[in-house]
Amino acid sequence: PARPAGLALAEGLPSGALTEAEAKRLAAGYGIPVTRESFAATEAEAAAAAEAIGFPVVLKGVSRAVVHKSDLGLVKLGLGDTGAVRAAHAALRAAPLPLDGVLVQEMACGEAELILGARHEPGLGAFVLVGTGGVLVEVLRDVQLAPAPLRPADARAMLRRLALWPVLEGVRGRPALDVEAVIDALVRLSWLATDLGERLVEMDLNPILLRAAGEGCIAVDARATLR
Ligand code: ADP
Ligand code: MG
Repeated sequence: PARPAGLALAEGLPSGALTEAEAKRLAAGYGIPVTRESFAATEAEAAAAAEAIGFPVVLKGVSRAVVHKSDLGLVKLGLGDTGAVRAAHAALRAAPLPLDGVLVQEMACGEAELILGARHEPGLGAFVLVGTGGVLVEVLRDVQLAPAPLRPADARAMLRRLALWPVLEGVRGRPALDVEAVIDALVRLSWLATDLGERLVEMDLNPILLRAAGEGCIAVDARATLR
């Protein structure tokens, strides 16, 4: 597959923390699958966006100042109809913290949550990491780190070293998960990290939801900081 021009993709983006939507567009530019989503400034826009995306949807409060949205009650999952979207919108807007708006996105599903990350360390270069993801990532510390860029075989070796690996292979009657899709996403993220070079401080896709073999993976959250 063709490798996109990373610095050009990042050209219009500000330095400092990107929004979830900006970080996902950067990842999507590298062919990493992300949720369908749109930004809404009002309740009416949120309802219209949800209808266009299709139910169930997720609503998230958007603010550049927030790092962990769910800690602040800013993630509303599994909204099944317009009424639920309007109620979630009102609840988000009632939060004490000023929001720039809300992000309406498809509700995705998967069998496991992974974190994929990229960093650029001044003087050392670009690195990528993969591990057990979700909101418990700092607690579980099941991560593997390697210098970028990666070949698919490097990405596979990192996955095999995770404590999560037996789950990816399928244990106790659970289906084998789409390891090839994660390998592809990790290689693409390593290209992004290499191409952005010093402009990249860090990027985290957490979580990427992983489905059964052949069904792919999808990043439902993204965070990035640029220089
Ligand atoms: P935080 O900023 O707290 O990391 P996330 O956007 O990652 O917020 O949402 C918290 C959790 O909610 C995720 O770890 C994931 O389990 C779930 N989640 C978030 N967005 C979606 C989505 N679009 N579809 C399904 N689950 C989601
Ligand atoms: Mg997250």
